[in-house]
Amino acid sequence: MQVLGIETSCDETGAAVFDTERGLLAQSLHSQVDLHAVYGGVVPEIASRDHIRRLLPLVREVLSNAGIERPDAVAYTAGPGLVGALMVGSGLANGLALAWQVPVISIHHMEGHLLAPMLEDEAPAFPFLALLVSGGHTMLVGVAGIGEYTVLGTTLDDAAGEAFDKTAKLLGLPYPGGPALARLAVAGNPDAIALPRPMLNRPGHDFSFSGLKTAVMLAVRKAEDDGTLEQQRADIAASFQEAVVDTLVGKTIRAAKEQGFQRVVIAGGVGANSRLREQLAERFSGQVFYPRLEFCTDNGAMIAVAGACRLHDAAAPGSIAAMARWRLDSLSPPGAI
Ligand code: ATP
Ligand code: MG
Ligand code: FE
Repeated sequence: MQVLGIETSCDETGAAVFDTERGLLAQSLHSQVDLHAVYGGVVPEIASRDHIRRLLPLVREVLSNAGIERPDAVAYTAGPGLVGALMVGSGLANGLALAWQVPVISIHHMEGHLLAPMLEDEAPAFPFLALLVSGGHTMLVGVAGIGEYTVLGTTLDDAAGEAFDKTAKLLGLPYPGGPALARLAVAGNPDAIALPRPMLNRPGHDFSFSGLKTAVMLAVRKAEDDGTLEQQRADIAASFQEAVVDTLVGKTIRAAKEQGFQRVVIAGGVGANSRLREQLAERFSGQVFYPRLEFCTDNGAMIAVAGACRLHDAAAPGSIAAMARWRLDSLSPPGAI
């Protein structure tokens, strides 16, 4: 069975073809980063319009690269995300499925992130603990199987990726800041500035990053007043990254121990962070699984593979689903509804 996957929840247009026998056959991505960079963040209207321009050519490209004329099913991101952007993917997925007379499968974007490691040769077996760290989410999820999710902890304010992006902005780095901040941090001393490890020593598995952001802001102001910001930028970046990584790793290991998970999956854009990967490898005694770097951030391949896992949910096309909010723990196993 071949599943076409379509992703348009935010500022990346993604398409891919996944074959249940042969694996990933083709994938392609168009990032809108340049379009939004001048505004310092994603502009929803611009995002929707660009998805309209890019999506059909991308779909044509992946079908041609996969060597097929039409797939057996079309999976698309139905939420959560920007409604206008989601409608583009949902509308095209339903339209194509109607024309091809194949079913559609609506996919939860964070389930896509969570299942992205299934695209790798060394895929994790169930059960596992997932740390989902992206631009809009920070969650620890107990995963018993597809659609069997227990959210153990979540962020009370900013997401980890959002904290990276906002801190990068404070340091004068271009949008999107996460990867740029990580590059700057390489040259800095992670112990240079004492920053809080928010909620690390509290019971429970929730996160909070807004206090850390304020602490960084104060450090930046102080450096500005002292006229030392230029020399201190790398140190501030490294200290911030260390505080986030320390918190994420500490809380993940504790949750894994408490809940008895031997396997941990890290997914979402912040999962591309090399310091996070390094620290987990060093400190966690169980196995850690990641998607390849390019599949940490948004892409069509993770939606295609999630669709392949949810073939039992395939339905006749027609209703254009697009949900700004959608709880991950409201999902059911494939075929359950
Ligand atoms: P969500 O999945 O929650 O809807 P999103 O789709 O916008 O949000 P992703 O595409 O998964 O998020 O990830 C983007 C985020 O990852 C951005 O905040 C970006 O700064 C961050 N990011 C990407 N690479 C790195 C890195 N190497 N280090 C830290 N953060 C990173
Ligand atoms: Mg993005
Ligand atoms: Fe995402």
